[in-house]
Amino acid sequence: AQVRDLVESKLATIPDFPEPGVVFRDLTPVFADGPAFHALSEALTAPFAGRFDHLAGLEARGFLLAGAASALCGAGVLPIRKAGKLPRAVLREEYDLEYGTAAFEVHEGELPPGSRVLIIDDVLATGGTVEAAAALIERAGWLVAGVSVAIELPALGGRARLRDRFEVSSLLRY
Ligand code: IMP
Repeated sequence: AQVRDLVESKLATIPDFPEPGVVFRDLTPVFADGPAFHALSEALTAPFAGRFDHLAGLEARGFLLAGAASALCGAGVLPIRKAGKLPRAVLREEYDLEYGTAAFEVHEGELPPGSRVLIIDDVLATGGTVEAAAALIERAGWLVAGVSVAIELPALGGRARLRDRFEVSSLLRY
């Protein structure tokens, strides 16, 4: 509860961004606060202690969280990148955005076969972004150890979409 209160006290909530009717949760003030960022990074991996080998950070805010968590728990990071950024042979997974589609990529063979990978991101909304990341991890021959996010928006259905296949953990829910 202490960690939750600390993170929540720094979180910014912006009505009508990026468009009217949307309430945007902005973690940048949490990133800017050393103790809050540290506490959040620790809280993301704690529920999965002993059950993962690597952290997957989803570009771009997931990179910050996975990187900080890596330094605290000792697990390495798998960057799940937007299409076209990785220089070696990749696997690619497209996913739907509100308008149009996007794609994630990982280097094939980046981790040993069977590696247990914990997916880290800032916000879970519809779950489409995490689903694409999970599909990549599984196609690459690794295992999804779980999904850990700072903030979950339960009304958008992400947990319902993912829970039959993956354990989902969130620090804050709105
Ligand atoms: P989903 O695919 O609908 O679950 O959307 C999740 C993705 O959209 C994540 O990568 C988030 O970074 C981003 N996202 C959705 N809503 C918010 C928000 O309120 N604040 C920040 N990012 C958001």
